[in-house]
Amino acid sequence: MRVGVLGGGLQGCCIALALVARGIPVVLYDRNNRLLSRAAIANEGKIHLGYMYANDPSRSTARMMMQGALAFAPFFARYLELPADALALSRPAAYVVHRDSQRSVEQVAHYLADVHALLREASEGRRDAYFGHDLSGDLRPWSDAEREEAFDPSIALAVFDSPEVAIDPLALAELVRRRIAQEPAIEVRLNHDVTSVEDDGSGFAVCATAESYQRERFDHVVNALWDGRFVINEKRGLRPGRPWLHRLKYGVSFRLPEHVPLPPSATFVSGPFGEVVSYRDGLTYLTWYPVCLKAISSEVAPPHWQTYPAEPLHSELLEGTLQAMAQFVPSLRNVDVAELQDVTVKGGAIVAWGATDIYDPASELHRRFEIGVTSTGNFHSVDPGKLTMAPYFADVCAARIAGSSAP
Ligand SMILES: Cc1cc2nc3c(=O)[nH]c(=O)nc-3n(C[C@H](O)[C@H](O)[C@H](O)COP(=O)(O)OP(=O)(O)OC[C@H]3O[C@@H](n4cnc5c(N)ncnc54)[C@H](O)[C@@H]3O)c2cc1C
Repeated sequence: MRVGVLGGGLQGCCIALALVARGIPVVLYDRNNRLLSRAAIANEGKIHLGYMYANDPSRSTARMMMQGALAFAPFFARYLELPADALALSRPAAYVVHRDSQRSVEQVAHYLADVHALLREASEGRRDAYFGHDLSGDLRPWSDAEREEAFDPSIALAVFDSPEVAIDPLALAELVRRRIAQEPAIEVRLNHDVTSVEDDGSGFAVCATAESYQRERFDHVVNALWDGRFVINEKRGLRPGRPWLHRLKYGVSFRLPEHVPLPPSATFVSGPFGEVVSYRDGLTYLTWYPVCLKAISSEVAPPHWQTYPAEPLHSELLEGTLQAMAQFVPSLRNVDVAELQDVTVKGGAIVAWGATDIYDPASELHRRFEIGVTSTGNFHSVDPGKLTMAPYFADVCAARIAGSSAP
């Protein structure tokens, strides 16, 4: 059996690793000249435990996220031979209820406690699964004094500790690239723009344009193209019967000057806000939705959005985000942009079901559980929904392919 995996983002790379571990050779396609060059590295690497999704009252998104989060470190421990705690690089996030939150402080507090109880249940007997962190403690509410010191208390109405951490996606990408380069059963086809997947009687032909037109035969094909996924599915007659949005979102990261205290990792809920991720190595990542959301597309294929924006957008995002967040994170006040080191501005597409933006509390974007592997015969389309979920769905997809009878 031979499998064509379309898309060398984190989802495609994880599927390739999970397939070869089951003895199945893979050809991995990407249109760029490097694996892991798009959304996989354009994010802040938060490994979601579900606390963010207070606008999904069913708790289904939280349940889904914790399933992915608890599979994340074990997957890389298995396939990259990394110790469980090797990837946890940020300080745990405090959850902050913003003054304009779509949920009240009481609702958020109740939601967080509920999710944490579900997490304790889900992690029983797997205490080390989340980067070796102990998940058995309570979500401690901050005292007024602590809240007033770290944030503007008129905007940050309540703060709760959480155990949620972020990995550094660039560091992870480098480890994954190295592992794939060492794996003879994964053939990588870079600079191959996949244009269609055609039935050829007993299997599929992946059609791609590289230096010349290429056509290659496989028994199974996995579509893990993220923002390129719908185009290929549609050519196979698989058009979703519901609305979706591609949103272009950016984030900025830098090292603060030594005299500036590092801000706490903080996620502002519930609505169009953002977060501060404070990595243990001193890097600070910021994203603020009203500044960093730059485009929305409901087309089958979104425009080709740049991962690293050029000027003047680069400066606009850096200065705008810093200015917006400095209003309620005092340690970001009086920071001179010229003093920042290692500045990066990066972003990418977020693909999700929904017709309205998250300013609408009823938007489907506030839910993220109708995701995963959809198989039509031996053609598998994978929507990870979040980086968090990629390893989990990789094992689901690989197990499905390995368990199917070869044609
Ligand atoms: C700003 C931002 C912040 C985010 N923060 C988080 C977070 O903190 N936590 C979290 O869990 N998730 C987060 N996400 C979501 C997460 O990044 C994505 O869910 C995940 O990376 C998508 O899967 P992927 O890595 O496989 O996608 P990608 O990296 O986009 O991989 C898809 C690959 O397919 C290739 N491709 C596309 N079309 C074609 C074609 N026709 N032919 C050949 N190749 C093609 C692309 O070049 C690309 O390499 C964030 C996303 C953004 C944009």
